[in-house]
Amino acid sequence: RTATDRIVVVGGGQSGADFVAALRMAGYQGLVTLVGEEPDYPYARPPLSKAYLSGKVSVDDLYIRPPAMYEQQGIDLRTGIRVAAIDRTARHVVLVDGERLPYAHLVLATGGRARRLPAPGLDDAPNVHYLRTLADVTAMRHRFVPGARLVVVGAGYIGLEVAATARQLGLDVTVLEALPRVLARVTAPQVSAFYQRVHTEEGVDIRVDTAVTGFSFALDGSVSAVELKNGERIDTDIVLVGIGLVPNTELAEQAGLAVDSGIVVDEYCRTEDRAVLAIGDCTSHPCGEHGGRRRLESVPNASEQARVAAATITGNPEPYTAIPWFWSDQYDVRLQTIGLSTGHDDVVIRGTTETGRSFAAFYLKDGQVRAADVICSPRDFTAARKLVAARARVGPEALRDLSVPLKQLL
Ligand code: FAD
Repeated sequence: RTATDRIVVVGGGQSGADFVAALRMAGYQGLVTLVGEEPDYPYARPPLSKAYLSGKVSVDDLYIRPPAMYEQQGIDLRTGIRVAAIDRTARHVVLVDGERLPYAHLVLATGGRARRLPAPGLDDAPNVHYLRTLADVTAMRHRFVPGARLVVVGAGYIGLEVAATARQLGLDVTVLEALPRVLARVTAPQVSAFYQRVHTEEGVDIRVDTAVTGFSFALDGSVSAVELKNGERIDTDIVLVGIGLVPNTELAEQAGLAVDSGIVVDEYCRTEDRAVLAIGDCTSHPCGEHGGRRRLESVPNASEQARVAAATITGNPEPYTAIPWFWSDQYDVRLQTIGLSTGHDDVVIRGTTETGRSFAAFYLKDGQVRAADVICSPRDFTAARKLVAARARVGPEALRDLSVPLKQLL
């Protein structure tokens, strides 16, 4: 193994960890260096808002690969250090301590960071939290005690998952959403209404169409109340802001690579520089038959791009064609989504969203099933996957008919 055939990976999160494992699986024997700025072994983020926040699992349970794997597989893992720059002409990266690591291939797996809420005093308030890293949970978890008041700003997946976990821990929870419904950017109105009902049943005070206009501070700098547009003030002990992700594209931009809301890659995870690839949440990649580009934030996407990039580098390129999927757990409700619902012209609900906690929403375009949100039905999810993969032409009546199992529609 020599430094001239070294592969350097920037970012020790989901995609970085999956990539180095996929590379060895694909038979790559050369030097591999994985540089991650977080101090921990690469860990899975989904439990951060769920089982880890509630204390049901420990840090050891979060590791994506057993820590021993890195040594066994000859991966040079450097944690707790940041890559400061890329020199594409010299083909090396520069670490913050000045060390230069030459590369034959560079893989950017830099993920993203929580979008900050711009308001005076907020950055210094000790009880205002964001959720992206283990360190974020460590900083907030001690505040999650029964009876504590939590205000969640933003009703996206992370905000709602934290609200669910907090209720289960006995906190008094209010969720504030500026848009007219929860999960507005990702689901149909019926699915939003379902989640709003479930959270209300669980005792969360959900307020949509509710803009935050300011904050009141206690003497120690912590937020004591959140101020709303209608003049109301909500007293609180904790504020959790979940208003989206900013992809970490700066390194790529500074190195002159194209960025379009994510690092621009092709279906083989290659940037315009054939020596540089990018994977995971930080990428903007082609949508295949859908046309256009997309940036996805999900574990299945990170893992799939890791596999595709390893295949590209080892000389067996395979395009990324996997259909996106995602899951979210809130209370006893597991959502599994398949496909991309953007551009749909019809939504068909199988079952009911008004009572109970199990149904499916199908997103149709030109009569074809393009995507589905399936709640608490693994069997229907399996069938929905196949319907979406086949772009099945199934009439709304057939999708609604609970007397016919979905798999019979294939
Ligand atoms: P990340 O996992 O974010 O890893 C990127 C890493 O790169 C970070 O460790 C970062 O510190 C490091 N880095 C960045 N810049 C540098 C640099 N210059 N030098 C060195 N290191 C650098 N997805 C699902 O599918 N289902 C879920 O239920 C789900 N729940 C989630 C819950 C939470 C609370 C969060 C935060 C995310 C959740 N996700 C979920 C999303 C999923 O975790 C991400 O899509 C996934 O982690 C993306 O992997 P990644 O490798 O692209 O980025």
